[in-house]
Amino acid sequence: MTQSHAILDRARTRVLGRGLAADERLLRELAALPEEGIPGLLALADDVRSRHTGNAIAVEVLYNAKKGGCSEDCNFCSQSARYATDIETEPLSSVEGFVAAARDAHARGAGEFCIVVAVRGPSERLLERVCTAVPEIKRELPLTVAVSLGILTDGHVERLAQAGVDKVNHNLETSERYFPSICTTHTYQERWETCLRVKRHALELCCGGIIGMGETLDDRIAFLVALQELQPEEIPVNFLNPRPGTPFGDRPLLDPAEALRFVAMVRLALPSALVRFAGGREVTLKGLQELGMRSGASGIVLGDYLTTPGRGDAEDFGMLDRLGFEVLA
Ligand code: SF4
Repeated sequence: MTQSHAILDRARTRVLGRGLAADERLLRELAALPEEGIPGLLALADDVRSRHTGNAIAVEVLYNAKKGGCSEDCNFCSQSARYATDIETEPLSSVEGFVAAARDAHARGAGEFCIVVAVRGPSERLLERVCTAVPEIKRELPLTVAVSLGILTDGHVERLAQAGVDKVNHNLETSERYFPSICTTHTYQERWETCLRVKRHALELCCGGIIGMGETLDDRIAFLVALQELQPEEIPVNFLNPRPGTPFGDRPLLDPAEALRFVAMVRLALPSALVRFAGGREVTLKGLQELGMRSGASGIVLGDYLTTPGRGDAEDFGMLDRLGFEVLA
């Protein structure tokens, strides 16, 4: 038996056979699995996904309700006011704008709608607007509604819960060790505490990050171990799509095999979570997107991302159809 076979056998026994998550030691072995073992790893992750979610795929649309002008300095982000990027800033949308965007997301076939605002944390005006729009959306449309509003206090989370928000997105982005290399205007700890507050108020937590920002394999494992501690219901996996004008604008794209390996590792680390392909999948995976959907992911973000275009709804739905997936309403 080759070394790859032995590692994959251990992973299969632990995760599929015994119903346990991959522990740190196994994650290290999977991170070091020789390339010849990657197809077996992806197949295993696909089996684990299938056991937990059957053929269901969760489709989400993001709504960028205020574009650009953010005070923070995240090195990957074209919405930071600190960098000369090509995005056109847009002010905060009206309540009617939120509701219209939710109608559009529903009409496009999404089951989830996420309101994203480029801010460090919500102002009173922003919170008020979100908390007015969400009940209207929930009254009218059968959507899971998520929000991504930056760093939150207990008071913020409580008001969002009262307004009927289902899920809060707040990404750790990377490991605690590497975080100061991607952002200096807020800390990993602040992000961590926001995630804990979301859990405390019994809202669903959507927490993931971006791979390919220059982090080491150890960072990726530490990031996964931190996610295991948080146990988010959803993990969005983004791959760095280097944006011109940002400090990470000239970083190389992640190797597609490493991108797929990581998605599979997320599935084995958190077997029952919703693992969602988010930004950067088109540029990183290119023609390997179908394989990507067979590497452990159970959800995708549809079409356009916050500041970068996707490849179009018809292509994404066509791919899901060819793969025999059923889109969750
Ligand atoms: S990632 Fe979020 S907090 Fe950071 S600069 Fe972009 S919008 Fe601001």
